[in-house]
Amino acid sequence: MGQNELGQLLDPSALDRAEGARGRLRLVVPAQWDGEPTELEITAPLRITCARCDGGGCDACGRSGALKTPDDPADRILRVQLPAQLGGGVVLRLVRPFGDTWPIEQLLLELVPGATPSRDIVRLPPPAPLAPWTASPPSSHARATALGVGFLAVLAAVLALLASR
Ligand SMILES: [Zn+2]
Repeated sequence: MGQNELGQLLDPSALDRAEGARGRLRLVVPAQWDGEPTELEITAPLRITCARCDGGGCDACGRSGALKTPDDPADRILRVQLPAQLGGGVVLRLVRPFGDTWPIEQLLLELVPGATPSRDIVRLPPPAPLAPWTASPPSSHARATALGVGFLAVLAAVLALLASR
């Protein structure tokens, strides 16, 4: 497939007409993630259902009803942004989910909320916020500690004086 064809694939109607292998993967995400923008890391299974025949077998999947994904789990990792509003479920269309050389052209990723989440879904931590104390002035607590240290130094000097007598 040439670069230009891939560019055309970003048009939804072109995606619908595209004739490459198309897989379908349905996963359950925790219902409580709904309403929060969330980035997910998903490890796809070794075989995914052929979306053209829904597992029944067709020419696109060699009559197997399934499409093979890369052997190495590291090559099967998908990173997706979970939409803020999950509702009853969303379908994300991933183009070339396993890279340009892998034969799966599109993956329809169905994410549905439920009580029993699928394995192999990891919620990525949100970006770390700036540390709140970096920009604030020294606290009164820090000053009090400095005074305390000074007092102890004086006390030590007095004790040393007493001991030398
Ligand atoms: Zn098929």
